[in-house]
Amino acid sequence: MAKLGFIGLGNMGHHMARRLLENGYSVAVLDARKEAMDPFRAYENAVITSTPAEVTELADTILVSLPNPQVAKIVALGENGLSSGRAFKTYIDLSTTGPEASQQVATALTDKGISCLDAPVSGGVPGAEKGTLSIMVAGPKEAYDVNQSVLEVIGKKIFYVGPEAGQAQTLKIMNNYLSAVALIATSEAMVLGTKAGLDPKIMLDVLNVSSGRNSATLDKFPAAVVNRKFDYGFKSGLMYKDVALCMHEADRLGATMWIGSNVKEFFKLTKEHLGVDSDTTEVVRLFEEWAKVQIEAKEE
Ligand code: NAD
Repeated sequence: MAKLGFIGLGNMGHHMARRLLENGYSVAVLDARKEAMDPFRAYENAVITSTPAEVTELADTILVSLPNPQVAKIVALGENGLSSGRAFKTYIDLSTTGPEASQQVATALTDKGISCLDAPVSGGVPGAEKGTLSIMVAGPKEAYDVNQSVLEVIGKKIFYVGPEAGQAQTLKIMNNYLSAVALIATSEAMVLGTKAGLDPKIMLDVLNVSSGRNSATLDKFPAAVVNRKFDYGFKSGLMYKDVALCMHEADRLGATMWIGSNVKEFFKLTKEHLGVDSDTTEVVRLFEEWAKVQIEAKEE
């Protein structure tokens, strides 16, 4: 079995690293927060490390799940970063970092003889926990083939997108853009229905078997809004980052995205108003505040 490294043990990463350990891989783990590494001390096949360069000494394949492109570049190319260590075999970026950063990192690491795969995921924290994520992968096909069994531990639907660095990242930011649009539009519609006196449960039951259904009506609203838990597990700061990456890419490629500019502004507002670590589903609170209503399940 390949020796693995895993950097970034946050909401998504800690589940993915745990699943790899529980499937028998030896994994060198690293996070900037010491407390994120503590639970891994219980695993005999885990090694706690202190720099990305140290991870390269212990692993053939290194996976990362990091918050943004800036951090991904620091981990790969910064001081004591992956590029300053031993030339390991494959780098797999599971984060959403956008095509531009992905291409920059891949160019630098490929120069050292390291194969690079961008492999962003979809399916949220529940998908990471159960190993049912969708994974879109781009990069050298041979590296994808060799590492497919590793990816199968964390995902169930794995798609090879193409050989060029960043191709999977483009698909991922398209997906998250659509997910963000759905969340905003659903917030608007559900607040309207609540204002008109409709029951949120009935609204979702109908929408989910009708043409308005989407990832917010199917997943986010039932799981985290109607019950007022707001614990879907995806931070507002990350959603803003993903929509901003998509808009940046639209600019780079000369594609027009009218709706995108508004959606980006909404998530900027959410992150500034409610904090970068607020749950992304909390965006609905803004619409509720403006309409002076609250979407809440009626007593049975
Ligand atoms: P998170 O913020 O919970 O986790 C990121 C982790 O990286 C944190 O534990 C943080 O301490 C660590 N980190 C930051 N800087 C570091 C450094 N220099 N060295 C080592 N570790 C460092 O984020 P998350 O929700 O786990 O998401 C991770 C990535 O996956 C993001 O790019 C996100 O967009 C993407 N993603 C998240 C979800 C989701 O539902 N949460 C779904 C799909 C994709």
